[in-house]
Amino acid sequence: MKKKLFSGIQPSGDVHLGNYLGAISNWVRLIDSYDCFFCIVDYHAITIDYKPESMQQRILNAAAANIGAGLDPDKCTIFVQSQVPEHTELAWILNSVISMGHLERMTQFKDKSMQNKGNINVGLFTYPVLQAADILLYKGEVVPVGEDQIQHIELAREIARKFNNKYGGTFPEPQEFLTEVPRIMGLDGKTKMSKSLNNYISLVESPDSIWKKLASAVTDENRKRRNDPGNPEICNIFTMHKGFSTQEQIEEIRSSCATAEIGCVDCKKMLHENMVRELTPIREKSNELIDDSDYLYGVLKRGAERCKDIAKETMGLVRENMGLSSLKDC
Ligand code: SF4
Repeated sequence: MKKKLFSGIQPSGDVHLGNYLGAISNWVRLIDSYDCFFCIVDYHAITIDYKPESMQQRILNAAAANIGAGLDPDKCTIFVQSQVPEHTELAWILNSVISMGHLERMTQFKDKSMQNKGNINVGLFTYPVLQAADILLYKGEVVPVGEDQIQHIELAREIARKFNNKYGGTFPEPQEFLTEVPRIMGLDGKTKMSKSLNNYISLVESPDSIWKKLASAVTDENRKRRNDPGNPEICNIFTMHKGFSTQEQIEEIRSSCATAEIGCVDCKKMLHENMVRELTPIREKSNELIDDSDYLYGVLKRGAERCKDIAKETMGLVRENMGLSSLKDC
């Protein structure tokens, strides 16, 4: 029996390079080794302001981009969170086993509150509890994350432990699978690449558009003239090379940047060429899928059906262990 792996996909509307290098490319490597559940987390997405009329398309875009990038729906389960109502049911129950103090310590809540000052809602605060419910509903054992998400997995573990202590063994304690996530900064080189900050390159962007963005992207700011030596370790272009270029090219840039043998324009051109080579089949496949919404809905429906069966079974056990009414009492 393969271990169960759970991961959430934000329906952000446009999947960007940070998502691809930080998450999707790692998931693709893991789908043969684990029983993988990839959940498009629309309930999480509503904790910040959004346009309801765009949500369906955002969900389809997320599904298309992830499948286009290699998440083969025949090898893993892809589904939409709100199609399985047990996520929110379990989240409510888990709210009653974890303290306010635990949630107040979540650094991501503080960051998100800063970014959404006009809408600091309760959902934003209890977001990590819903995240714990997402994982525990499927008895997820492994959660691939970058370092910024470790705190939430620790919380999910704490919630599972507290629940098990109070109501009897029900959930496994999920473990983080720390993937090597290059911290991809935005084109400004200062803030993390993000859709909301509009500093990103989309996974399905055209080669011309990618070049326009790379051409103006910030490099090592201390390298003011062509002959100045650069420091690749503080340059976001170099970080992106690590995601798209060969080891040999990376080593070459590392040394030739420091000795000013290579200029930033040539360095960016090399990156552009490698990026376009890798992303073109993904863009083509994603666009093909976007035009075939029946196929995408079919994948998501199939995924939800499998998840509903598992979720019902888990909730049956949760209810029984908690002494709540179950269907057989009715
Ligand atoms: Fe960055 Fe490349 Fe310029 Fe060096 S040569 S500063 S790695 S863009």
